[in-house]
Amino acid sequence: MFSRRLKSLTPYVPGEQPRDRSYLKLNTNESPYPPSPRIEAFLREFDPALLRLYPDPWSLNLRRKMAGKYGLSEDHIFVGNGSDEVLSFVWYAFFDGRYGRLLFPEFTYSFFPVYCDFYEVPYRRIPLRPDFSVDLEAMIENGGEPSCGIIFPNPNAPTGVALELDRIKALMDRYPSDRVVVIDEAYVDFGAQSAIGMIADYENLIVTRTCSKSFSLAGLRLGYAFGNPDLIRALFTTKDSFNSYTVGRLTQSIGEIAMEDEEWIAEKTSRIVETRTFFSDALHAQGWEVLPSRANFVFARKTGLSGQYIYETLKNRGILVRYFNVEGIRDFVRITIGTKEDMTRLLEETPRLCCTET
Ligand code: PMP
Repeated sequence: MFSRRLKSLTPYVPGEQPRDRSYLKLNTNESPYPPSPRIEAFLREFDPALLRLYPDPWSLNLRRKMAGKYGLSEDHIFVGNGSDEVLSFVWYAFFDGRYGRLLFPEFTYSFFPVYCDFYEVPYRRIPLRPDFSVDLEAMIENGGEPSCGIIFPNPNAPTGVALELDRIKALMDRYPSDRVVVIDEAYVDFGAQSAIGMIADYENLIVTRTCSKSFSLAGLRLGYAFGNPDLIRALFTTKDSFNSYTVGRLTQSIGEIAMEDEEWIAEKTSRIVETRTFFSDALHAQGWEVLPSRANFVFARKTGLSGQYIYETLKNRGILVRYFNVEGIRDFVRITIGTKEDMTRLLEETPRLCCTET
């Protein structure tokens, strides 16, 4: 009954969405704040009869709103059912193993190797620098071998560490212009510099974004990508060979409102950034190493404690965080920044952890 393709798949494992009891969820980088009251008002007034009709397969109104917000035209913008889907189309359209391996950081978004296996793209993980930043120079050098593309999140996940734009510009200036570079900016709104302004200068640059984090809309499933119009057309060709209607009517309409919700989003984002500073300082004062984060999560460890132990102990106490059972980062946990009250509750539990050796 099963294809050969299926047998070789190892799927991505998303963070838990438990149903057994109510947890303080600090494990999937969702926002602790609701979307704006304008979205609530829209949903209350929405006419369900409209759902008879298929949505616009080009999401034109939404892409125009995005174009206005980001200062590009709609032909520079692609939208999809979450940035995970956008990324999977990116893989299909641009990464071809005939031209070399795809390069990404050793510790990064764990979906990347899953897409490589799915689309049969060979890859190489490039070690992070000692300060946990992404090593772009090593990607360009790649031991003298050609590569079929580069992808990295900025800020990187799960470290939260960001690169400055001048380093990214230096990469773009040196990397072959006929290979695509993808910057996954899922977390950029929490304090990193965006490369969107470089789209006009580099024809081989794709920047992906999501409404799941700073826009408080993880449940909506809306992601988008910026790139030169030829690359964007290639993404539409890919989508239309797979499913014409990846972005539903409700999602397109709510996305349009979200693009105009600048004040609400900026206020919530700056609260999360403030809470991140408060929490990082407090955890550091408890003897933890906390990587400098510019995302809505922190990556932290404490000597003597394993990530698994921290995860399991906190789970027993009703708090979910994420750990990665991967050589090199097993002693870290990734903790989403919630409200100040959420983080204060966690900070009451963390001192108890130090008393238990693994
Ligand atoms: N990129 C990174 C780095 C992420 O952490 C996530 C969230 N898991 C995504 C992309 C995907 O986000 P979404 O599909 O919700 O847009």
